[in-house]
Amino acid sequence: MKLLLLGKNGQVGWELQRSLAPLGEVIALDRKSVNGLCGDVSDLQTLAQTIRRVRPDVIINAAAHTAVDKAESEQDLALRLNAEAPEVMALEAKSLGALLVHYSTDYVFDGSGSAARKEGDATGPLSVYGRTKLEGEERIAATHCRHLIFRTSWVYAARGGNFAKTMLRLAQEREALSVINDQWGAPTGADLIADVTAHAIRHVASNTADLGLYHLVAAGEANWHGYASHVIAETRKIRPDQALKVQEIAAISAAAFPTPARRPLNSRLSTQKLQARMQLHLPDWQQGVNRMLQEILSTCSL
Ligand code: NDP
Repeated sequence: MKLLLLGKNGQVGWELQRSLAPLGEVIALDRKSVNGLCGDVSDLQTLAQTIRRVRPDVIINAAAHTAVDKAESEQDLALRLNAEAPEVMALEAKSLGALLVHYSTDYVFDGSGSAARKEGDATGPLSVYGRTKLEGEERIAATHCRHLIFRTSWVYAARGGNFAKTMLRLAQEREALSVINDQWGAPTGADLIADVTAHAIRHVASNTADLGLYHLVAAGEANWHGYASHVIAETRKIRPDQALKVQEIAAISAAAFPTPARRPLNSRLSTQKLQARMQLHLPDWQQGVNRMLQEILSTCSL
């Protein structure tokens, strides 16, 4: 099997390089040109040419415009990366008979209520990022190519910056922190997303009825305040030698912390469909976060 991975150095892309390796030959690209292949997904013509030259059996798109606040002032670029590029991938996948794997977001929903959203529930994005990601989903579906779309949320990875690392840095510098407690979701590891992706690619090879849209997040739920408190308590357990200055973590509402892009208050996603169709168990979010903390705390001092 030949797999073309786009966005290889993002949080999910990096983990996909590992998880896809046993499936076949992986051609992994970032936005640079390598050996005459260009992975810059903002150049739609070159993107189509790259896919035609590689002739993959599977295209996995981990590239996106993920800077949620910046997208508010970069609407054209967000649309190109999050909707137009995935459409090009879908059209090329269709003409090659390839499978397209793509990622989307909890931000396609409006965040009202407290129920976990199912795949078929009404969407209502609040931001440019959410709107362009939804348009990406819709454009892929409209081509009728074979596809898997995974909506995920609150992605973290040991590599690069993340919310947990920011909280740990602030906990070293300050005695008091204020963290939002009325946005709910599930912190989800890029490693889990990548592993489920590899499993799903194998699964749909012999179960074509299971192609389509899925919610893919870790089990359980948290708000950012609970997430931050967990990170700090766990760090004190793993590295009691590390002095954290923080004594108080105050809970504040999202309204007290305005940002250019509005974010949904309720980002809970139901993963029932994924677990049932693909015979998967999704671990509690704390499990992956603890593992990431073990990894980052064992390799560096704070
Ligand atoms: P990252 O921001 O870590 O990675 C995105 C990647 O896209 C980066 O490697 C970036 O490259 C690449 N990229 C940006 N522009 C281009 C371009 N013109 N050509 C090629 N590559 C480009 O995102 P994640 O790994 O976290 O996200 C993966 C998917 O999951 C995305 O579809 C995202 O929308 C979705 N998602 C993410 C969430 C999160 O919390 N992060 C939450 C919900 C969904 P470079 O580093 O060079 O800029």
